Amino acid sequence: MTPRPQGRDLAELSSASVVEEVRGRDVVWPIGATEQHGPHLPLSVDTVLAEAFAGRIAHELGGFTVPAQSIAARSLPQSGGGLAFPGTLYAGGETVIRFLRETAQSMTRLPFGRLIVVNGHFENEPFIFEALDGLCRHGSAEGKEIIAFSWWSLVEDSWLRDQVPGFPGWHAEHAGLTETSLMLHLRPDLVSDLRPDHDRPPRAGVYLHPVDVARSTNQGVLSSTSGSSAALGERLFEHIVSQAISLVREGEGLLRSNDRPAAGGGNVRQES
Ligand SMILES: [Zn+2]
Repeated sequence: MTPRPQGRDLAELSSASVVEEVRGRDVVWPIGATEQHGPHLPLSVDTVLAEAFAGRIAHELGGFTVPAQSIAARSLPQSGGGLAFPGTLYAGGETVIRFLRETAQSMTRLPFGRLIVVNGHFENEPFIFEALDGLCRHGSAEGKEIIAFSWWSLVEDSWLRDQVPGFPGWHAEHAGLTETSLMLHLRPDLVSDLRPDHDRPPRAGVYLHPVDVARSTNQGVLSSTSGSSAALGERLFEHIVSQAISLVREGEGLLRSNDRPAAGGGNVRQES
């Protein structure tokens, strides 16, 4: 198999060369999780996907990746299946915010141009945004541009309507069709044939206690895996990469496509 194009790994540079190598370049930081993903996928899904997107985005931009953060926020019953399943490793939200803010702050000592954060774990998102916002309010991000997103946030509604009929919502896509397909594309060696379907995905934005995991999931899977394929995974991967590149390069995608003002108008950032 030919190796997938990846940006260079910042951690493989020497201390003597890192400052000049990264000056003005993009640095891409993948943040994942170690979380149960049903019987057919490994605990590392969210990290594998964040790393794959980060590696490819860094390659397209001629930038660097920094080592992935693979232990982050807890799993919740309506989005990740919750903590009833063994193998999920996590830290509390306050710890995650502080860890990410301090780590990003240490990165800002390097003269990179942009920090791009790629999230792969649903429950991380508000903590990542809060950590980065704290960094900016602290004044540590002066002169830097920071862009952070969860990979699924870049999928266009029209693409989903076309490719994933009956889409259950991203909170319920846990170990479901899209994650299984991406893993079949990127790491088929880590995917088994046991692929349960859960035909009653949970509602978004609801917290339950106590929760009956045998009802809210099927063995840790929150939605359907039927129809998963490496081909769908490849189409989704390439769609997200191209969305990410236009977001970063041109500010495209900051607004939803049907809300975007006509060329020349509105608040879309213009390239200088
Ligand atoms: Zn996941």
